[in-house]
Amino acid sequence: MIQMLWPSTIISMNPATGETLAEVPIGTPEDIHQAVARAWAAFPAWAERRYAERGRLILAARQYILDRLEEIVEVTYTETGKPRTEALSSDVMAVLDLMTYYAKYTEKLLRSERIWLGKYSIMGRSSYVNYKPLGVIGIISPWNFPFAIPMGEVVMALMIGNTVVLKPSEYTPLVGLKIGEIFQAVGLPEGVLNVVPGDGTTGAALAEAKVKKIFFTGSVATGRKVMMAAAKNLTPVVLELGGKDPMIVCRDADVDVAASAAVWGAFANAGQICASIERCYVDQAIADEFITKVVEKTQRLRQGPPERVDTDIGSLSTERQLQVVEEQVGDAIVRGATVLCGGDRNRELGGYYFQPTVLTDVDHSFSIMREETFGPVLPLMTFKTEEEAIRLANDSPYGLTASVWTTDIARGKRMAAQLQAGTIMINECTYTHALPQTPWGGVKQSGVGRTHSKWGLMELVELEHVHVNRMARTKDPWWYGYSRQLYEVLVDFSRTFTSPSWVDQLKAIPAVLRGQRLKKY
Ligand code: NAD
Repeated sequence: MIQMLWPSTIISMNPATGETLAEVPIGTPEDIHQAVARAWAAFPAWAERRYAERGRLILAARQYILDRLEEIVEVTYTETGKPRTEALSSDVMAVLDLMTYYAKYTEKLLRSERIWLGKYSIMGRSSYVNYKPLGVIGIISPWNFPFAIPMGEVVMALMIGNTVVLKPSEYTPLVGLKIGEIFQAVGLPEGVLNVVPGDGTTGAALAEAKVKKIFFTGSVATGRKVMMAAAKNLTPVVLELGGKDPMIVCRDADVDVAASAAVWGAFANAGQICASIERCYVDQAIADEFITKVVEKTQRLRQGPPERVDTDIGSLSTERQLQVVEEQVGDAIVRGATVLCGGDRNRELGGYYFQPTVLTDVDHSFSIMREETFGPVLPLMTFKTEEEAIRLANDSPYGLTASVWTTDIARGKRMAAQLQAGTIMINECTYTHALPQTPWGGVKQSGVGRTHSKWGLMELVELEHVHVNRMARTKDPWWYGYSRQLYEVLVDFSRTFTSPSWVDQLKAIPAVLRGQRLKKY
């Protein structure tokens, strides 16, 4: 968490204790301007390197992280208040795997591809696409996974041959600076990665800078501002925004497994995951058993200091987040929600701790069922039919992930087909951001574009189409030399060549030959 000392510094603090960790300068628009200039200067040489060379550097950075695992885990949990185990599993371990994947496979995923031209190939034509680096990429990242989120995008961008300006969250500047330090230590050339810590003003300057793409992860409200700022230069954006992710528990689900999943999916990272389970719909036939188990499992969670390896839930990362959670839970209670456990700050611990909370007797008129909470709260509703569950799950402005819990996989797939989300998981939840092979991104207000996977790489490349005509000594029939005969050839062409029928297309051959014989100039 951070305290602002207007105008030039931010103070990094441990949200679990209130202890000051460091004072960091806020990057100015001029700092951003210079960083972008450095990144452009470094781009040509970096883009020219072979994938294997870039991959070696990524793997060297990976080894550097492994050699300093505890140090990186520590800075991550100290600045966020998340449990040490989660700093390791969700931030650092996820990144180590991602680095291996992109170091090994980026070249293969971005191999040139031939385009099937059908009948044009008979005319000696062929086409292929190349994927080339774009240039400078601006990355603006949040505090909830301060290591994993920017690192994923940095690694993808660098592997392709792009250079990067990264603006980490004002709540986690030390983790952001650590990312820069890692790459510097392994010899990444000057200017290829530029970390500029700062606040919203620094991010706004980057969104307006002359970069080729903005990768933004954060709230819907800021995402909208970023998109508008980037539009000034027609800079395309990828926006990874908030969620209100539903979990549907069918009557044939393994109740114990689903209850464990609900508790982990709702409370991991103190609920501050864009893909946290924020709404749970359970078939009323199993609701009593399921809810009893959820409450029992929640009551077993140990909330405590982030540094302890047996802490399950740490503190929230920011005071603002604590206030949002308090407001939404308070509103639900006033409107008649039943608090099955939790429901308040954890005052024994100090810091920004909120107790893991399970609520029932809620409906879609409550803010807790409509707005992103981003805290350790699991509101539960029951349903009678599959259709009702799907209608409730889709009744949201968000669409990041959704999950269906059932032992009947065919049913799961049938329901998945009707759910509105960027990722739908059957008997899984929340975690696929950690799978570098799979695309990540939302529908509706949860975002624009994708990150991770080959589709995420596609957001970071310039697509170059190369077209070849092997008939180097002939002029095309549609070139100048317009005449009555050419017109008739083209009428013939319109009837035959463009027809969906292969038989008709074959009938175009005489017209093609006639067209070739026409005089061109
Ligand atoms: P935020 O929108 O407050 O800030 C995100 C980043 O934007 C920060 O670096 C901030 O300094 C910067 N910023 C602020 N104002 C800006 C402006 N005007 N122009 C440019 N940049 C600006 O979000 P947050 O509180 O850091 O993160 C929490 C949100 O992020 C939640 O809504 C969560 O769901 C979302 N999130 C989404 C994903 C995803 O993959 N979809 C992942 C993690 C977090």
